[in-house]
Amino acid sequence: PARRAAEVVRGCLAAMADVVEREESYLGDIDAVAGDGDHGRGMLRGLRAARAAADDAALGAGGALRAAGAAWADRSGGSSGVLWGALLREIGAVVGDGDLPAAATVVDAVRRGAEVVARLGGAAVGDKTMLDALVPFADALAQRVADGAELPVAWRAAAEIAHAAAEATSELRPRVGRARPLAQRSVGTPDPGAVSFALCARAAGEVLGV
Ligand code: ADP
Ligand code: MG
Ligand code: MG
Repeated sequence: PARRAAEVVRGCLAAMADVVEREESYLGDIDAVAGDGDHGRGMLRGLRAARAAADDAALGAGGALRAAGAAWADRSGGSSGVLWGALLREIGAVVGDGDLPAAATVVDAVRRGAEVVARLGGAAVGDKTMLDALVPFADALAQRVADGAELPVAWRAAAEIAHAAAEATSELRPRVGRARPLAQRSVGTPDPGAVSFALCARAAGEVLGV
């Protein structure tokens, strides 16, 4: 049972790495509009390090997530990597190393992870960052689970909400991060960190419950 939860974590990281690899150049292109163009590369570097760190049969789900988060923050080389690292570490701390966590525990873990990202980055919803996908994701996940949906179903619905929310960041002007000085240029292009978050949430959702 504890081993199965860790396997789900490793499967999610693998699926996330696959989608980021496919979308690497697109993520770089949208980061180049007002940022420095390294978002695809940084996400892929961080995710590969995260996968390697989680690939240890002795780890439970929480340990695998914490190891993955530490490696991601360490190796991605960008602000998004530090934030993803903190997100995974917080989720890992909340879900722990036991059997597959209850849906309500996952809801709590994601919500607390979003709070940590907001605190660490000093950003809020509307600032045109990954939080503009992460927070709607956390809210939709909580709502679906409260309505009685099974975790995989709730997660997949929340990932679609995150995807729409990421696309909607096109209209926003960045208020934090590297894209801020060229904020006006970024209007019309979605936030790279929000787009990659939605892609990762979708990819992870395909792994849950299979
Ligand atoms: P860098 O800006 O260091 O090159 P990346 O290109 O990997 O890092 O990631 C850029 C993304 O990180 C942005 O699109 C945004 O979503 C996210 N981001 C950057 N700074 C912050 C912040 N302070 N709070 C939340 N998200 C942020
Ligand atoms: Mg960048
Ligand atoms: Mg950079």
